[in-house]
Amino acid sequence: MQVGCRKNRLNLIASLLPVMLAILATGCSMHALIKPGEDSASVEITATRITDRAWYFRGESGMASQANRGFMSNAGFVVTGDGVVVFDALASPALGRAMLREIGRITDQPVKYVVVSHYHADHFYGLQAFKAQGAAILADQAGQAYLNSDAARERLAQRREALGPWVDANTRLVAADRWLRLSPEEPMTFELGGQTFRVMSAAHAHAPGDLMLYVPGQSLLFAGDVYATGRLPFVVDGNSRQWLDAIDRIASAAPEHVVPGHGRVSDNVERDVQLTRRYIEYLRKTMGAAADNLMTFEQAYAETDWSAFEKLPAFAEANRRNAYSVFLEMQEDSFGESTPDAP
Ligand SMILES: [Zn+2]
Repeated sequence: MQVGCRKNRLNLIASLLPVMLAILATGCSMHALIKPGEDSASVEITATRITDRAWYFRGESGMASQANRGFMSNAGFVVTGDGVVVFDALASPALGRAMLREIGRITDQPVKYVVVSHYHADHFYGLQAFKAQGAAILADQAGQAYLNSDAARERLAQRREALGPWVDANTRLVAADRWLRLSPEEPMTFELGGQTFRVMSAAHAHAPGDLMLYVPGQSLLFAGDVYATGRLPFVVDGNSRQWLDAIDRIASAAPEHVVPGHGRVSDNVERDVQLTRRYIEYLRKTMGAAADNLMTFEQAYAETDWSAFEKLPAFAEANRRNAYSVFLEMQEDSFGESTPDAP
């Protein structure tokens, strides 16, 4: 009996150990704890209010990991008099369900639409939760090509490995109900429950088919990864020229609040836009000159003075890859310009 009790106690400690370690690994964050007795894939997250009608979910810092359960990107929603409009769906079906639970604590209105900023895994893997409860999903047509690609299948396999059990065999890549064909000059506007929503294309600024959602009545823009608050952006899958155009459009819309794809909501749009513009222009200038002079990337990177940006958040993670991406883009431009016309 004694031995049995001790064994039971040891079993109990052994069974609690992973939970205790998970809590320690999240730095005791209240954002993503597993509740006792719940399914291990369940996550709880809380929304932060921005205006009288709008909230956002702020992901934790860092890359997607077991410690943050993939909760490292942002999403948001607007409650209207006739349903809820959601922007982005986070990085797993479990997080999508957690969003729905939190939205349900704030309003009894159903989610009518989900607008997808872009098809990067950390922004759309939660879609199946919204699809299951009848929301219509809107995304740029570029997402369709991505969903049919090997890259999408490989990413899903990698995420199942890295983010199980939150991304697992039941995780599906969900297509939009409506694939939009927007140009930056022609946004799509719709009304719901007394609010106007403007879906704006940012072309291929951060990723193919970037969309942003502007809510003029709330002076609020959901900008996805095109916007960075007080830190460096991730330029790797994007186009620096189109990025500059996109942030110019954000500056001229002049919203009071911008929700970025990662990090805190911005209440100083002019300052953030200026920083992103200065950084991207610097990448274009330095990497463009290197490409014109036929330098190698290694040489160009080593000889560039990064002191104006190296103290900013995300410099260590992003700068080298950003510079390489813009170097290749500028090399292509430079090569294109110097190629003689075919005879
Ligand atoms: Zn992204």
